[in-house]
Amino acid sequence: MPAVTADTLTLPRLRALPQQGTAWRTAHKVVTGKKSVEGEGFQVRRPFPGMDLSLADPFLLLDHLGAVEYAPGEAKGAPWHPHRGFETVTYIMDGAFEHTDSTGGGGLITDGATQWMTAGSGVMHSELPPDSFVASGGLFHGTQLWVNLPRSLKWTPPRYQDIGSRDVRLLSSVDGGALLRVIAGELDGYRGPGVTHTPISYAHATVNAGARVDVGWPADFNALVYVLSGRGTIGPDARPLEEGQLAVLGAGDALTLRAADTQPAAAGSGWNVLLLGGLPLREPVARYGPFVMNTKAEIIDAVEDFQSGKLIRQVPDELDPGTMPHRTSEDTDLHR
Ligand code: MN
Repeated sequence: MPAVTADTLTLPRLRALPQQGTAWRTAHKVVTGKKSVEGEGFQVRRPFPGMDLSLADPFLLLDHLGAVEYAPGEAKGAPWHPHRGFETVTYIMDGAFEHTDSTGGGGLITDGATQWMTAGSGVMHSELPPDSFVASGGLFHGTQLWVNLPRSLKWTPPRYQDIGSRDVRLLSSVDGGALLRVIAGELDGYRGPGVTHTPISYAHATVNAGARVDVGWPADFNALVYVLSGRGTIGPDARPLEEGQLAVLGAGDALTLRAADTQPAAAGSGWNVLLLGGLPLREPVARYGPFVMNTKAEIIDAVEDFQSGKLIRQVPDELDPGTMPHRTSEDTDLHR
């Protein structure tokens, strides 16, 4: 898992927290990501939705793409499809995705880069492996996170942020045993490059075998930890957490996690986890496939706007909409 690597000795360090008197957050729920098939047929693990979605608020969905070793000709993606009412954040550690959207945004996401797309009032995009990667095959590993927009920003104009792998804020744990990459929001006062409409923190930590990470966390944010590879424990009661599992943490003002002393050989670089949290919106959620609004009527409008071509301002030449992907069991039933 290359993502971005660095010598932790040269990086700014997280503040040391007192072991006594710190309100460490405890995992009160652990869920295992469900396997599902997306786009043209690539496997994802999806820890949420599927659990009580209010626990994830302001997040709507997390897809763990791979890690998968593609043979030549095998790599797949998600061709042209619409979104409205939220933001998609795509983080690619291995392999590459080429993004094109109806606002003219686009670029190659690879080697630890992030693409942040605010769908807002409506966007169409395609997320596909570049031809060269399809031809060669190779290791592919990434994540896609959906961040909800509050009612007041559902109609914001679409926006595209291309965050290069060198733009992420790199930090070290107190003893240098962990590398943290802040993708968006803040960690211990260090700000990542992603500009978010909804206040969140989103970071990828690589924790060496046996090393510990203690980090302050805003008391008014929720807190989730998802394991990309390897194993470790979370919270003061050392709850085990391994690849494909998501921990939902309770109240408090700091996180503590520790990588297991021995890691599975496949994990290679230690315990890799995503730390994510945000300020819950606490608004009604109506969702259907690629649209997330507040009411069923707004979802019906979105489907009609998509079908009549009014979802976006300009339809790109190469567009072939096809069917709407991303449908989940959490979808609002439009027929009742
Ligand atoms: Mn999409």
